[in-house]
Amino acid sequence: MRQHLKPEAHDKGKIDVILHLKIMWNIRKVVSKGDYNYAVVPEHPFATKNGYVLEHRVVMENYLCRLLTPAEIIHHVNEHKKDNRIENLQVTTQSEHARRHGYQQGKMYAEMQCPECCATFVIPRNQTFYVKHYKYTCCSRSCRGKFSRRIQLQGILPETKTAIANNLIYEFKYTPVLAAPSKR
Ligand SMILES: [Zn+2]
Ligand SMILES: [Zn+2]
Repeated sequence: MRQHLKPEAHDKGKIDVILHLKIMWNIRKVVSKGDYNYAVVPEHPFATKNGYVLEHRVVMENYLCRLLTPAEIIHHVNEHKKDNRIENLQVTTQSEHARRHGYQQGKMYAEMQCPECCATFVIPRNQTFYVKHYKYTCCSRSCRGKFSRRIQLQGILPETKTAIANNLIYEFKYTPVLAAPSKR
């Protein structure tokens, strides 16, 4: 474990080499987009065409020295989604994450990425929209207005298709493993 390494002064160079080898991803640049920061790591298996990966996932992967599975969700302890200091990040499961955010037991939720501003958000599944043949849900009324105006003016461009294809990140039913006794 990295935090147990107590380098002596003369070992410093050696330790730097070890630490360097343990870093999985070399973040070229951090880009702020919507609610989140994205790390530019083009070689990452889950990178977008532009090489973007959610920065908090890259930070955690570098810390753990392994890939996160899609079922592992990162929670921001202080709720600031751009505060990606390792001490602000916790690996959770979908259901545990749902519980922390006060989701209701047994209800379906969808984690979405806004096609207009790329912010990610979670909403009840039954609040997602269907528009013509293209199903998409935006993070806000204003993004929805901008995005649909763009479609009206320009039609469905390849970028628009990609944004819609990436709209739904995952759906989940909030079903905690250890269900607390019902309050009702
Ligand atoms: Zn969270
Ligand atoms: Zn948006």
